[in-house]
Amino acid sequence: MIESMKLSQLISEDQIQERIKEMGEEITDKYENGDLIVLGVLKGSFMFYSDLVRAIDLDIKCDFLGVTSYVGAKSSGECKLTLDVGMSLKDQNVLIVEDIVDTGLTMNFLKQHLEKRGVKSLSTASLLFKPDALKVECSIDHVGFEIANDFVVGYGLDYQGMYRNMPYIAQVQNMN
Ligand code: 5GP
Repeated sequence: MIESMKLSQLISEDQIQERIKEMGEEITDKYENGDLIVLGVLKGSFMFYSDLVRAIDLDIKCDFLGVTSYVGAKSSGECKLTLDVGMSLKDQNVLIVEDIVDTGLTMNFLKQHLEKRGVKSLSTASLLFKPDALKVECSIDHVGFEIANDFVVGYGLDYQGMYRNMPYIAQVQNMN
């Protein structure tokens, strides 16, 4: 625990799991007649991704992307790809899975990057969405929870590498 930080639970483990079940059903219904590649955005989405893909009742392909834009608790505004998708995406239905959409810059960067690879369709899912923090227009097809413009940790989301393993989402208070 970082001493100057106080955490208060915002979304419980049960709430997260219940919502993911619903999102999995939504996605299953949407793609029941077609193939689907589900791309997890590392590192923050690893926990959401692993629960979401298990809630999708289809034969899907799984792969990952890596991107960085955050320094501490602030977005640098500049996105960099740290890992690209290995498989061909040409003429494929692709679903991007993010942990959180804040300014929207990362999701837009990823959409532009993937559209260049000739996908058939591109959809987006994010566990968390901060509508008041958006700096660019960015619509998300499958949103878990809309939250206020506060910094959160847990369930894959970190602060300086910590708190990713908490099974719930907490709001951070008293940040330096
Ligand atoms: P955006 O580009 O939309 O501003 O931010 C996307 C990325 O910033 C997310 O994938 C996540 O890594 C990080 N991020 C944005 N808001 C938060 C937050 O409240 N908590 C944490 N831990 N990371 C965040």
